[in-house]
Amino acid sequence: MKNTLFYLLIILVSCALTAGLNVLHSTFILRIPLTPESFIIPVFAGTVFGMMLAQINLLRRKLGEMAYTDPLTGITNRIQFNRFLETEMEKTQRYGGVFSIIFFDIDHFKAINDEYGHLTGDRILRELTERVHQVNRSSDIFARYGGEEFIILATATDLHGAKLHAERLRSEISESVFSSNVHVTCSFGVTGFDPENDTATSLINRADSAMYAAKHAGRNRVVAV
Ligand code: GH3
Ligand code: MG
Ligand code: MG
Repeated sequence: MKNTLFYLLIILVSCALTAGLNVLHSTFILRIPLTPESFIIPVFAGTVFGMMLAQINLLRRKLGEMAYTDPLTGITNRIQFNRFLETEMEKTQRYGGVFSIIFFDIDHFKAINDEYGHLTGDRILRELTERVHQVNRSSDIFARYGGEEFIILATATDLHGAKLHAERLRSEISESVFSSNVHVTCSFGVTGFDPENDTATSLINRADSAMYAAKHAGRNRVVAV
């Protein structure tokens, strides 16, 4: 739709230029012979030029998206997540407020891949991100952090709220039926941002350690620290 409008605009501009030429010609400022081609060629050239510009724009936008999106699941990638995190930390340190991190990892995913194949594993990763999206708030920043590891930056959410959110995600995932009737569970680590002492690394390491504590405690559970 946007492209069509763009082409129409280019055609209009070309027509205006042609009309301008005509006026110049009729006032004897421009003394070139005006034939039907004098109208067709600028309109055609303008349209082709417009189409090329639109394609270049589209390509630029796609390349931009690829730089901050995970290709398998279509969600935010780790690099872009780290940028969001830095911004949220700065905002919280300057203006106050709270936010929390939820870090989670699929339990025994290697065994799922081994039993059902890598393609089913990929499909499960995509289905899982859809389910998480359904539970998340639109203000949550959800990213794929590694192979089968995911992270959520829960804005304006304290540790208690984030723990409840992680618990909702845990039960939604464990009660869902995934491709090939696979049963999937995840282990969650939750932590709140401490504006006085935390760096991005200390914050994520704490969430990661909590997630590992959930694994060691038997998996399919939430540990908040
Ligand atoms: P744990 O419960 O301790 O987390 O066990 P795990 O098997 O999930 O952990 P491990 O780290 O041993 O294995 C992770 C697996 O995730 C292995 C790897 O092949 C798989 N994996 C990582 N990225 C992808 C992917 O993009 N697609 C698929 N299908 N599998 C992936
Ligand atoms: Mg795992
Ligand atoms: Mg892992």
